[in-house]
Amino acid sequence: MKVYIDGHDCHYEVESLVRMFFPGKRLQVLQGAPENPEEDAVYTRMACEGRRALLSVAVRLDGHSKTAEEAVDAARANLDAECERVFAVMLYRILAPLTGIHPGWGVLTGIRPVKFVHRYHAQGMEDSEIRRILSGQYLVTPQKIDLMLETARQEAKVLARSQPNSYSLYLSIPFCPTRCHYCSFVSHSIEKTHKLLPEYVELLIREIEDAAERIHSVGGLRLETIYFGGGTPTTLSAEQLRRVMDAVNRCFGSPCQGEYTVEAGRPDTITEEKLRVLRACGATRISINPQTMNDRVLEEIGRRHTVRQTVEAYELARRVGHDNINMDLIAGLPTDTPESFASSLDQVIGLGPENITLHTLSVKRAAALAEDAEQVHRAQSRAVHAMLDYASGRFAAEGYLPYYLYRQKNTVDNMENVGYCRRGHEGLYNVYIMDETHSIVALGAGGVTKLREPGGGLIQRVFNYKYPYEYISRFDEVLRRKKQIPAFYASHPFREGIQQNL
Ligand code: SF4
Repeated sequence: MKVYIDGHDCHYEVESLVRMFFPGKRLQVLQGAPENPEEDAVYTRMACEGRRALLSVAVRLDGHSKTAEEAVDAARANLDAECERVFAVMLYRILAPLTGIHPGWGVLTGIRPVKFVHRYHAQGMEDSEIRRILSGQYLVTPQKIDLMLETARQEAKVLARSQPNSYSLYLSIPFCPTRCHYCSFVSHSIEKTHKLLPEYVELLIREIEDAAERIHSVGGLRLETIYFGGGTPTTLSAEQLRRVMDAVNRCFGSPCQGEYTVEAGRPDTITEEKLRVLRACGATRISINPQTMNDRVLEEIGRRHTVRQTVEAYELARRVGHDNINMDLIAGLPTDTPESFASSLDQVIGLGPENITLHTLSVKRAAALAEDAEQVHRAQSRAVHAMLDYASGRFAAEGYLPYYLYRQKNTVDNMENVGYCRRGHEGLYNVYIMDETHSIVALGAGGVTKLREPGGGLIQRVFNYKYPYEYISRFDEVLRRKKQIPAFYASHPFREGIQQNL
């Protein structure tokens, strides 16, 4: 599909909006007007007429043509944002009936829709007014608005715990035993990179020591949460895990007073010895991720473990004493059906984890599955609605509350990812990273440190090298860049009593 941009700068919004209606298809974004009036295309144009900006849209698809036009006061505040919204609404109203696709999120294309609610609440708006705006101006369905408002309520309690001097720590273990077909994450299968692991662990420990020194030199920063993510952190041996976690405890204070999550992830990497190390070294929350409880679907997505292994890992974790467990599921996996998804969810709920994170399949370009992207979207589009409807009913009935929510690109039917939990078991780090509430110091390959100005909105990023071999070969540069942490706080000191911006 060709998308023409004529006389305006709303490329990103127009492209994102059009993409929702042509999942898995290639879009070609061009400047100017179409030369051939018979070709399938989306044409967007802005022209100035006196004090008005005149926005027009023309769509031709499968022999059908539709147009729309709207004027915006050129002197109004936030003109750019309003033009983006108006283009998006006109496109939505034309493309929804033409394609038969009716995205529940309306014209919201951003990854953090709940931020809208926080912003409106901060302006003193009532929920009823927020509903009216989201539905009338952004075409969001009542069901999604309910989800946004409920998530915002839970999230707000977590956000209130963060102080101007708070920060969190992220440790990246970008290794996995094998690569799942749907994954685009920069993770390296052990088969190819096994040799790098010992050196990676040594350097990660050095980076932990170095970062702790820099953070302590600032003075007064408060560690809220620690998160070991991947890849699959339990790809490390029990001894390697113990060494890394000991280094964290030694350098950052033992045991961590806040939340300490280790994303064990793949059940086939979990052993009793590793679970005991995690417990002994202070992990307060772990993830064991089935994605589906259907062996046939697991095979289809190239995730080389079985349902039996998931259940055994979970039961083992409970026996070892882990009392806060998250389990991830994905809706819309190839060949999964609403019935088999419902059975997966029922089995997971039956195990009784404190957290369940429900993702919608995202078909990313770098994933093996991307070759069949269009087919996957077509096959799972309707099923995903039934899956998410079933899930929201079951979660409500079982007392699981939505506490964080984000959207990714290229998800089946533009659906969302939601973290649900039993009351009081919110995964704090998940909320902080998504909201960018406070600084996150990220260590290891692929880590992106985000330094947030205390009480302000400024964010400064410090990048580590993406791949383990670069991280290892350019480690001196990794350490050098960490000097930006004390420099940032020297320029942006925190003071007690500052309220974080929502
Ligand atoms: S376990 Fe997770 S990070 Fe690793 S390959 Fe599979 S989906 Fe990707």
